[in-house]
Amino acid sequence: MGKSIEEIKTQALAELETVSSIDDIKALSIRYLGRKGLVTLFLRDISKLPEKERPAAGKNTNQVKKLLKETFDRAESLITERAVSAEKGIDVSLPGRPVSAGSFHPVSLITEQISDIFSRLGFNIAEGPEVETDYYNFEALNFPKNHPARDMQDTFFVSDDIVLRTHTSPIQVRIMEKQPPPIKVIAPGRVYRCDSDLTHTPMFHQVEGLMVDEGISFGNLKGILTSFVHQMFDEKTSLRFRPSFFPFTEPSAEVDILCVICRGKGCRVCSQTGWLEVLGAGMVHPAVFENVGYDTARHTGFAFGMGVERIAMLKYGIDDLRKFFENDINFLGQF
Ligand SMILES: [Zn+2]
Repeated sequence: MGKSIEEIKTQALAELETVSSIDDIKALSIRYLGRKGLVTLFLRDISKLPEKERPAAGKNTNQVKKLLKETFDRAESLITERAVSAEKGIDVSLPGRPVSAGSFHPVSLITEQISDIFSRLGFNIAEGPEVETDYYNFEALNFPKNHPARDMQDTFFVSDDIVLRTHTSPIQVRIMEKQPPPIKVIAPGRVYRCDSDLTHTPMFHQVEGLMVDEGISFGNLKGILTSFVHQMFDEKTSLRFRPSFFPFTEPSAEVDILCVICRGKGCRVCSQTGWLEVLGAGMVHPAVFENVGYDTARHTGFAFGMGVERIAMLKYGIDDLRKFFENDINFLGQF
């Protein structure tokens, strides 16, 4: 025989000191008391002892077996009790984990604000397809085929005749084809151009505006846009109209607002000019009216377009356009 039963007992109790889980204790119990456990084998080998030693050895071994079983059981219930009390002992005074709520994307927020302002000015809201025909995106807006003005836009062509719309202006044509004047409508939506850098992304958002009726003049255009800018920024934000060119308006203008950062003194955002370009606008070109069958002798109108991200950048003081589309929760959660 190898170890004495006393040595086996000492070894078992020492090993029990090192375990901490119920599984560990079960394994220990099998190693000592299981069918091939050290104590069980010891008990079996007692029959090989000289006859007169057997009763004492048997008694000792059975005592050790009983002691170990009781000790293992006690250790097991102790661990169970601790787990239960830890579970019951939840500290209700600890602050709870916050439930994170979603928020609106800044582009959605600004689109919503722009739509609200124009709704109050009497404009309806329209939508149009993002995949457009060449006709609605260019031709009907007075960009004839091979007209050099088409080079102003880097277009995603789906096929020779189908494009991802490069501006929201095709919606003007779709609306005028469907209904006679008077028209007072804005059209927010996504537009696409092959451009990507600090100030350009391949997809961005515009809001288009169109007003057509008898006797609409450039004065009405100035009045509506001034009212919009005052509501979007504040009453001190003055406007400046600079002559420009778009194929579908004549005359055309770029509209600047007084720099909302430096108030005209000159800063990095306005490139020291004191002005920020935010809109393109003009009187609807008679060729566009002819394309939709309007009477150019009777009706006049104006159109304008603005970039939503541009307005959002100025409103929130964001310097990199790409931040809008990186899906960074820390950035988007601030609005
Ligand atoms: Zn400035």
